[in-house]
Amino acid sequence: MTELDAVVVGAGPNGLAAAVTLARAGLRVAVHERAGTIGGGARTAELTLPGYFHDICSAVHPMAFASPFFQRFGLTSRVDFVNPELSYAHPLDGGRAGLAYRDLALTSAALGADGPAWRRLLDPLVRSVGDLTSITGDSLLRMPRHPITLARFGLRVLEQGGPAWNTRWSTDEAAGLLTGVMAHGVQPLPSLGASAAGLALATWAHAGGWPIPIGGSQRIVDALADDLLAHGGSIALDSEVSDVRALPSSRVVLFDTSARAMGRIARDRLPDRYLDRLRRVRYGNGVAKVDFALSGPVPWANEESRRAGTLHVGGTRAEIAEAEGAVTAGRHAERPYVLVSQPSTFDPSRAPEGKHTLWTYAHVPRGSRLDQTEAIMRQIERFAPGFRDLVLASSSRSAHDVELHDPNYIGGDIASGNGDFLGLLVRPVLAPDPWRTPGRGIYLASSSAAPGPGVHGLPGWRAALSALRHDFGIDTEPELGPGV
Ligand SMILES: Cc1cc2nc3c(=O)[nH]c(=O)nc-3n(C[C@H](O)[C@H](O)[C@H](O)COP(=O)(O)OP(=O)(O)OC[C@H]3O[C@@H](n4cnc5c(N)ncnc54)[C@H](O)[C@@H]3O)c2cc1C
Repeated sequence: MTELDAVVVGAGPNGLAAAVTLARAGLRVAVHERAGTIGGGARTAELTLPGYFHDICSAVHPMAFASPFFQRFGLTSRVDFVNPELSYAHPLDGGRAGLAYRDLALTSAALGADGPAWRRLLDPLVRSVGDLTSITGDSLLRMPRHPITLARFGLRVLEQGGPAWNTRWSTDEAAGLLTGVMAHGVQPLPSLGASAAGLALATWAHAGGWPIPIGGSQRIVDALADDLLAHGGSIALDSEVSDVRALPSSRVVLFDTSARAMGRIARDRLPDRYLDRLRRVRYGNGVAKVDFALSGPVPWANEESRRAGTLHVGGTRAEIAEAEGAVTAGRHAERPYVLVSQPSTFDPSRAPEGKHTLWTYAHVPRGSRLDQTEAIMRQIERFAPGFRDLVLASSSRSAHDVELHDPNYIGGDIASGNGDFLGLLVRPVLAPDPWRTPGRGIYLASSSAAPGPGVHGLPGWRAALSALRHDFGIDTEPELGPGV
């Protein structure tokens, strides 16, 4: 008899989602995490000055409310969130801005001439957000469950992902607003991958909002770990796994690692043909992260933007497309696209009274070792004159450092696998059950597997359900809610 039923390699949100699901099914589960703390891309720490709590990686959680895994887990009854009325803002020169409120009608009204076009683009998706979430949360080969929503989404992805992307818009505000959210995909603009990611994120912004956990992203993984421990699981920290043969014996091993790392660690348990496919998985460009401790809130020239949870900084649609084009060509953009979150505006626990934290990253070529502090400060100062004078301290991580912090982010690729259209659909390989490998009892549970990046727990949950079905003969989903 084996000592354990399941080992999970990695305690990121997906590794923990997998471990919780298996433990809730009554299995004996052990998690091994290489770092000294749990959480992977969902950790919070004092990176700059004492009393300033920064999210090291993820900060804003569009899927916290929408994820079917988190809904079953009852995340919102275990972690407190703030849900800004203004999901994201897109500052422009001259104190102008595009503003995406949770309320679609308000957004449409604020967009003036382009308001009706914005509503026509997103209203049908917002109305069928449940279907859209299940489409984007699954593997390609199981998608055609909601054909009408899929067709609506697909047509819009084609429009905003190709040469016709400007025909709908007459104002910089609306075009910029959509470009800012599409640029999350770290892809050339326009492109299908960027368009798909952007439209899904824009839909969630109006459907459920872009919530921020009180206390930081760490609270989400802490809730998962607490549940795992309460159901008999264990977590070993500072426990890097480099060869599956060194692990205690177990029926299954689930990898919350990159697809490439799983291929290396489990090479003796996987057929050569599959290992070749894992070696062919492509990784995307990177991000360089900079966190700031500030003596006051960011003085955005557009005053309404001061109420936004997230901001996309980079100027007009053309300017952002140029910046993303430079990164695609392997160059650093002179004026990079910068993603900004201002959590302490909504959650005073992040900084001493009256002070603030600011979370930012810029897109850079993969593996870049360049510090982007100055480039990011220049971009923010452009739309928030006086910002520089507020900076008390900053902490910078190049794309290379992002990978050192968590090896899943190869070259600083925060998606752990290319986010182009094919990379989103075929993840890591084309299969109806992409979480199950041909190696007996070996599963990929990380964001390198469908449906991809984000803190939503879906790859981990799906991998665990597949393992329960195939290796333990358990077909019923375990109950995950609190108090069970
Ligand atoms: C800078 C940055 C900003 C981001 N912003 C957002 C955001 O705002 N919102 C959002 O939803 N998503 C965001 N993301 C993406 C999100 O963090 C990831 O998609 C998510 O964390 C993936 O979860 P995971 O469990 O698959 O992997 P990870 O969170 O990367 O966890 C993997 C874990 O496995 C461990 N590990 C790896 N190899 C081994 C090994 N050999 N042995 C033992 N342990 C190992 C790692 O140390 C890590 O703890 C961001 C990511 C980054 C890097």
